[in-house]
Amino acid sequence: MRICVPKETHVGERRVSLLPASADKLIKLGAEITVEAGLGSSIKISDQEYQDVGVQIEPERTKLLSSADICVRLRKPSAEDVQILKPGCVHVSYLDPFNEKDLVKTLADAKVSAVSLEMIPRTTLAQKMDVLSSQANLAGYVAVILAAERLDKIFPMMMTPAGTISPSRVFIIGVGVAGLQAIATAKRLGARVEAFDTRPVVEEQVKSLGAKFVKIDLGEMGQTKDGYAKALTDEQMAKQQEGMAKHCALADIVITTAQLFGRKAPLIIKEDMVKQMKPGSIIVDLAAESGGNVAGTKVDEEVDVNGVRIIGLGNLPGHVAKNASEMYSANVTSFLTHFWDKDQKKFNLNREDEIIQGCLVTHEGEIVNEKLLSVYQSN
Ligand code: NAD
Repeated sequence: MRICVPKETHVGERRVSLLPASADKLIKLGAEITVEAGLGSSIKISDQEYQDVGVQIEPERTKLLSSADICVRLRKPSAEDVQILKPGCVHVSYLDPFNEKDLVKTLADAKVSAVSLEMIPRTTLAQKMDVLSSQANLAGYVAVILAAERLDKIFPMMMTPAGTISPSRVFIIGVGVAGLQAIATAKRLGARVEAFDTRPVVEEQVKSLGAKFVKIDLGEMGQTKDGYAKALTDEQMAKQQEGMAKHCALADIVITTAQLFGRKAPLIIKEDMVKQMKPGSIIVDLAAESGGNVAGTKVDEEVDVNGVRIIGLGNLPGHVAKNASEMYSANVTSFLTHFWDKDQKKFNLNREDEIIQGCLVTHEGEIVNEKLLSVYQSN
């Protein structure tokens, strides 16, 4: 069974979807692997390093894609690339399927079996395949490092003969995977950290990292059965904004990571809340690419609003592309290995399995994912 890996074409994307160490594991299972020439060049991995573990190098992208039984990549494919794939090819990547209805239809029409890695269920068994977690974890780290570099203050308290410097204050809104890593990173650098999330179960996790959990009574909140946040009502959102304004005003850095699975991110920090913040303070909006948590965020830009810098840079894991690639490659390899039939030496797309049911989006010409179909039908 041939696994093919094309280079990423998205401008500025430096992450690589399959590294030589992962290719080595898959080859030992009996897979044949071909990658596009220069696949690892963005993170200084040579074609020779792939060849050393038995990978074949293909300079012609069309030839590569048309020979794939399994195609692995990081970003969603272009419609043109999909047309080149063979019917029955298993395509494994991020897909953003809730927002990419046309692309999903193209994949179905091409009879490609498309796996959307962001739809893998967040279960203990599937943890090692969870690209959302591995990349969000790095994004949380990068958000703090970017903010620290731009802030004209230090994070820790310092008592010196020249005076005492009080610690910087960091406020984190949304404590999923990215938020927890942001708390841990800011604490390690010595900041005073506060955090808030609408899921009450998070309070203990925040406290265990040595940060303070901000309590705002929003009434009934909870989480979905998959552990995701529920959307707030307009009234709850207004209460949240009111409760949060003074914490934002006191903060040197605010990091927002609030997401609603499959929906636009909630707008939490309104214009007047930004205005109340101190000049020189920094906001990092990690939800910039999915709609933004902050009024005034511009995707892939840094803007100044009354002296407050709002950072809306996308692809934060791409700032640490080497580690991000290692993790993504390990996640994909775990996925392929989990469903690998060792006797037949082939990937077994087991439609009865709940992980496959969660992440398989198209198969044999149809859109087959229940969750996706229900969202498409309701739109
Ligand atoms: P996410 O990226 O979907 O959202 C980030 C955070 O934003 C969440 O904690 C969410 O509660 C919060 N949020 C949403 N609206 C908000 C608002 N108005 N104000 C403040 N915060 C708001 O989350 P994620 O990091 O992908 O994690 C989602 C869930 O999956 C969590 O329950 C997490 O523990 C769980 N998870 C489970 C596993 C596993 O068991 N394998 C792995 C990773 C994550």
